[in-house]
Amino acid sequence: MSDGMMMTRAYNALENVISIDDIHSSNRDDCFCIGCGGQLTANKGKIKAHYFAHRPNKSNLKTLAGYDSTMVCNWSSESEVHIMAKEYIANTMELLLPIGTINPIHKIIEFSSVKLEKRLNGRVPDIIASINGERILIEIAVMHKCDNDKIKELRANNLNCIEIDLKNYKRTGDIVSHEQIKALMSKANAKWLSVSASNQFGGSFHTHDKEQFKKLNSEYKNNKHFMTVDITARGRGLESIKSDIESSELKLISINENIAIKGGELDEIKSKIADINICNLISRESSVLRNEKLNNEERNRLLSVRTDLEIREVAISEVEDDLACRTKKLISLESQQAELAIKIASEEEAIRKRRKKIHDEVNLEARVIAKRKYDKELERTDSALNTTRLKIKKILNKTKSILPTETRLEILEMIN
Ligand SMILES: [Zn+2]
Repeated sequence: MSDGMMMTRAYNALENVISIDDIHSSNRDDCFCIGCGGQLTANKGKIKAHYFAHRPNKSNLKTLAGYDSTMVCNWSSESEVHIMAKEYIANTMELLLPIGTINPIHKIIEFSSVKLEKRLNGRVPDIIASINGERILIEIAVMHKCDNDKIKELRANNLNCIEIDLKNYKRTGDIVSHEQIKALMSKANAKWLSVSASNQFGGSFHTHDKEQFKKLNSEYKNNKHFMTVDITARGRGLESIKSDIESSELKLISINENIAIKGGELDEIKSKIADINICNLISRESSVLRNEKLNNEERNRLLSVRTDLEIREVAISEVEDDLACRTKKLISLESQQAELAIKIASEEEAIRKRRKKIHDEVNLEARVIAKRKYDKELERTDSALNTTRLKIKKILNKTKSILPTETRLEILEMIN
């Protein structure tokens, strides 16, 4: 197993290919490697798939005639595919082959005999098949296609040879299965390397090509007629297109002139734009400088405003402290005032009571004084009255003679 693939085919002592399935004893010593001629062991275990393997110690081993023990083994999974494809054709005795090279038809060709060649390499073909005695050589191309020298030789010898291309083979497991070979063969490209002109198969091949050639030739003639008509029509069309192109070229010239004029105008505009751009650049630079200055001034102003603000904040906080203190004082004053108001009210009440008392006392005193005054007045009046009575009595005494006694008694009564 040179590439990990299990080897299922080997040579026997007569250099015939044998399958592991044909081996019934592990002790057989006539199994040799197809790649190097080295002696092989047949592994016929019960679990793994059956396979051949190189024996380990090469010095004590037999080698197939024509090989020697120092040969490097060139066996690969492609060798296995090559052999199994040959076996497949030998078993089916038929192939799907193209007939003809011009519009080929594909036909299943049944062979009357199939003979496999022993060697893989060299000038001998892989398979010699026959159809009613006519030989068809079959080459299986897995790694290498036929070289040009071999193709020349086949043609010089007037042989039929088909090449089956199996280069699409890809490894999928440890063994190459019959199903894999069948699938590969059904999709394989088959190409004739050489076809004999003299025998029946080659004759039918060439007859197909001749018929196809005639058909194509007649189609060609028909097509040529239609194409001539078409070409004439197209020629006319071409003439009109040419005249269109000429008038378009004239237009193009005038457009180009216009473009040149507009180009000049554009250059002028561009140079103006460049001037404007320079002006803009200068003004932008000066504006940048101005902005920097303004920014600095603005920053300084901001700083001073911030400082001022901080000072104000301190002042505000002081004022707030003061205000809090004053508020506290005010509250205490208000409470004192309330207390005082209560005191004043009670004092006022007391004063009112005292005033009333004094007033009452004064009123009493005044009445006493008034009575005393009145009594004195009464005394004075009484004395005045007595004086007056005395005067009147004197007057009555003096006037006793003049006044009737009655009148005098009346007056006396009046004054007493
Ligand atoms: Zn080998």
